Amino acid sequence: MTENPLLAPWTEPFGLPPFAAIKPEHYPPAFDRGMDEQLAEIAAIAKSADAPSFANTVEAMERSGQLLGRVSRVFFNLSSSATNDALEAIARDYAPKLAEHQSRINLDPDLFGRIADLHARRETLGLATDQMRLLERLHLDFVRSGALLDPAGKQRMAEISGRLATLHTLFGQNVLHDEEDWQLVLDAADLEGLPEFARNAAAQKAADRGIAGRYVITLARSSVEPFLTFSSRRDLRQTAYEAWTNRGYHDGLHDNRPLIHEILVLRAELARLLGYDSYAVYRLDDSMAKETAAVERLLSQVWEPAKRKAAAERIALQELAMREGTNAAIAKWDWRYYAEKLRQAKYDIDEAEVKPYFVLENMVQAAFDTAHRLFGVNFAERQGLPLYHPDVRVYEVTDDAGGHVGIFLHDNFARTGKHSGAWMSSFRDRDSLDGEVAPIIVNNNNFAKATPTLLSFDEAETLFHEFGHGLHGLLSRARYPSQAGTSVRRDFVEFPSQIYEHWLAAPETLRKYAVHYETGAPIPEDLLRRLLEARNFDQGFATVEYTAAALLDIAFHTDPSPATIDVETFEQAVVSRIGMPPEIAVRHRPAHFQHLFSGSGYAAGYYAYLWAEVLDADGFEAFAEAGDVFEPHLAARLKDIYASGDTRDPMELYLAFRGRAPRIEALLKHRGLAAAE
Ligand SMILES: [Zn+2]
Repeated sequence: MTENPLLAPWTEPFGLPPFAAIKPEHYPPAFDRGMDEQLAEIAAIAKSADAPSFANTVEAMERSGQLLGRVSRVFFNLSSSATNDALEAIARDYAPKLAEHQSRINLDPDLFGRIADLHARRETLGLATDQMRLLERLHLDFVRSGALLDPAGKQRMAEISGRLATLHTLFGQNVLHDEEDWQLVLDAADLEGLPEFARNAAAQKAADRGIAGRYVITLARSSVEPFLTFSSRRDLRQTAYEAWTNRGYHDGLHDNRPLIHEILVLRAELARLLGYDSYAVYRLDDSMAKETAAVERLLSQVWEPAKRKAAAERIALQELAMREGTNAAIAKWDWRYYAEKLRQAKYDIDEAEVKPYFVLENMVQAAFDTAHRLFGVNFAERQGLPLYHPDVRVYEVTDDAGGHVGIFLHDNFARTGKHSGAWMSSFRDRDSLDGEVAPIIVNNNNFAKATPTLLSFDEAETLFHEFGHGLHGLLSRARYPSQAGTSVRRDFVEFPSQIYEHWLAAPETLRKYAVHYETGAPIPEDLLRRLLEARNFDQGFATVEYTAAALLDIAFHTDPSPATIDVETFEQAVVSRIGMPPEIAVRHRPAHFQHLFSGSGYAAGYYAYLWAEVLDADGFEAFAEAGDVFEPHLAARLKDIYASGDTRDPMELYLAFRGRAPRIEALLKHRGLAAAE
């Protein structure tokens, strides 16, 4: 057998993984070796005869598990963006093994004894600020993982963690299955209403799937959403809509409903074991929000105004539909279609007129140049580096002095084997514990590939959003690996990404980068003005679909008796209790709500986007007040947030940037929900 490339030293430039040489069968032995190595390292720390010190315990732990981390990052990146049956099988096999491995570390009494000892005398250790926070966080993480439980409780914690890891993996795989299983194959005659970009993308998708001469709509948001927005065929809109919102709801092997049930029961048990009333209380205890009441207060501040705005929007849509000769009430599959028509009528603006100005390459350049002006970093494309898919582009990031900052991979297109949504991840995080390690950051989007690829304004915003996360990883200056970049509290991690979106909408950006793909002409001033005016349009809808999902999340994770939950009945009950407008659906229905159930990252945490929006809307106002969206002093203070990772408390970071506590008014104004409107 030839050498396993995952175990051999990596000699590719910049520390990139040797993608071409890695085969699925290389992962299991590499995972096994990685776990063994880390357990040996941990045992050496835990059983050490030397008295615990920050260096021989906390720093030694930070150094442990390097092989496992390296292998895991390659595996989980590829099983998200370039998966296949072999990787899926390994993911199912290793999810519980990796969880068990983590439990063995977190529940090791000797190791925790040393951490607890250091924690108890932390004020006497002469620690720097980041070290103090690292020790406190480590202690807290162990306690929250069950380190204080009796042996039976620890045993149960480990079982729960292992089973949850399996369930999360299956949940995500089932969603992907349902998305890839379904397609709407159309003839040219069925394309009524679709603008050229949507026809091109549907033709491309058909060609990719070997259905030449026809058109394919898939359940990727970038395919189905334009179809729902433009297709004048109500019957086909309904078909597509129902398929989209029924992902995960099909009886049989890929049904996500029983998985949700089991996940909720186990999470509730986990919380109880640790002394919390519910999983939401447990999760929020370690967040900026701190308690469910704070989250509920925030959600209720937007919920009623959003419903009022949506009700007004619905009336306008219904009137438009009637003028167009339909008496049918607006249904869920009609909203986007009539909203787009109304937007055209009201602002004299239509998506098909806007998109030719939003060429993917130009928007990427806009994101890069914004980073240069704000933070002094440069992006230069590099050819000939090893990659895992030909669509991926790679950039070397340098500072203005020419120093290497990191590597940035841009993986922008939807394709078979790639999970839906958009996300940032890393192949390596920056640290300087033992010399400088530069980050390798990746952004994934799911744009419909075409020639040229034209984006909607929302898609360009997503690009900027993920790029904001990317900068959080690239600009990290934290010295310890576990404090790098995005390792912050979940309800703070969306701040660097969401505030970055504001620079897309800055007229300075649009005048320069929104140029027509054929003529190269800049977006006409008149169209630009109308585009910006229309930004509040349909925000009642957007706020309602999002906030309902956040309320549903909290309801699931505060329910006192999850064992009795029937997923659809529960969803229905929440929807009717909160007074959900019947023409609008929850943004993610439970059986494909991957934020909640394909991992625990956003479980009882979907509110985080809105929480962070209070900060980003208020934070960007600082630039508006300064009269310069690139005001250098503010930009420098903002860069501190991107650079700090988890070395400081998030509210402290925000106060240092803004000079005062955040206020909600900017968010309400931004979404058109302020009292006067
Ligand atoms: Zn995000």
